[in-house]
Amino acid sequence: MPELPEVETVAQGLKRRALGRLVAAVEIRHPAVIVGSPEKFVSTLEGRTLVNVARQGKALALELSALDGSAPRFLLVRLGMTGQFTVAPHAAPYKSHTHVLLALDDGREELRFRDVRRFGRLRSCTREELEAVLGALGPDAQRITEAQFLAAMRGRHGAIKSWLMNQNLLAGLGNIYADEALFAARLHPLAQPGRVSAGTAHRLYHAVRKVLDRAVQLGGTTFSDYLDAEGRPGKFLKKLRVYQRTGEPCLRCGRTIRRLVIAGRSSHFCPRCQARPRVTAGMRRPRKPEA
Ligand SMILES: [Zn+2]
Repeated sequence: MPELPEVETVAQGLKRRALGRLVAAVEIRHPAVIVGSPEKFVSTLEGRTLVNVARQGKALALELSALDGSAPRFLLVRLGMTGQFTVAPHAAPYKSHTHVLLALDDGREELRFRDVRRFGRLRSCTREELEAVLGALGPDAQRITEAQFLAAMRGRHGAIKSWLMNQNLLAGLGNIYADEALFAARLHPLAQPGRVSAGTAHRLYHAVRKVLDRAVQLGGTTFSDYLDAEGRPGKFLKKLRVYQRTGEPCLRCGRTIRRLVIAGRSSHFCPRCQARPRVTAGMRRPRKPEA
């Protein structure tokens, strides 16, 4: 499922291929992916020009300006689990699960939103509506400062893995890059953010930034569905060091990678490189039955 590097790659592709182009017509083939009224979605976006592409965390915001100088609209795109937002020739056959089409310029090319699992969403919003959505998110994981990062960790006692994935605290990480960043920082997924040393917190901050930057350079990770704006898969899959490598040897020390379920999500880690701290999140032991 798309996380920050995948969404950033889509954003960069849209800038290359669609910036400055006119959204000549909008067609909704499956209204369930539209937030709000489908009619309003069409009428507020048609006839506008794409003037900016921005991203915060996993949210993508396309700014569309009108010729008459009226207030801009924003197309907020959430790729969800399996969403794809690509520029394609109109003549190319539609894949199944293609839900929304935005014809560009003379209609020879179009933006296509395709989503097999249909957890993704498109919404046409005003600047105020967009700011309300983005304002609920924490700082973007690629832009957060170290001071902000350390402040957000302070006093937190849940699992660091869940903390990294909490979009209200830090926007952009999901399961893949949270596991990879913890491995890079040699931190156990059940460590508590408020209890790690200053040195470890510093290491984690830089591990997050490094893992994300490297993944963006390689166009993200494709397991099955993710494609960039030009329909290409990401190349980070081969660089994964722990994610979905349960049972395989650690690439650093050779110990077998293990899996642990935290808050319903699998965490992959090396039990030697990421030693379990003395105190971890959720350590209440089940009570022994009375003798
Ligand atoms: Zn190891």
